[in-house]
Amino acid sequence: MAVKTILTEPNKLLRQISKPVKEVGREEMQLMDDMLETMYAANGIGLAAIQIGVPKRIIVMDLSKDENKKEPLYFVNPVIKKSDSSKSTYEEGCLSVPNQFAEIDRPKKCEVEYLDYNGEKKLLKAEGLLATCIQHEMDHLEGILFIDYLSKLKKSMIIKKLSKAKSTRIVV
Ligand code: ZN
Repeated sequence: MAVKTILTEPNKLLRQISKPVKEVGREEMQLMDDMLETMYAANGIGLAAIQIGVPKRIIVMDLSKDENKKEPLYFVNPVIKKSDSSKSTYEEGCLSVPNQFAEIDRPKKCEVEYLDYNGEKKLLKAEGLLATCIQHEMDHLEGILFIDYLSKLKKSMIIKKLSKAKSTRIVV
């Protein structure tokens, strides 16, 4: 396993639409292992493959609160089958939009069909934080970031801030 670099906005790759995985093989499992390690190292609860620059429809998540009891979730080719008309609101952040947070409304419940780590077909009925998190991650597969739901003004302010931080950032 290896910790990878997480891409941050603005970055054209984050706007790319990820491609479906044909088969869950050794390469995909290795990718999921790396994604999980990268996500844990960054203290995130979800990560899409495109955030480390790989345009495949793969997501990892872990919503467990207990540090010692990890509960990783793997989603390959996730598709939303049903979603609720009622909404819930969470203050969202994103590893690709560092230090920025905003309240976002999303369907409260959803059903997601996907392949798991072993390539087996699964159906997840999600609600609350789990539903919000999977929808946030699935947006990444379409090149969408949570800041896209904000007003143009708010969004451009955030992007300006992030660009400035990037241009003055040195890593030595
Ligand atoms: Zn994100």
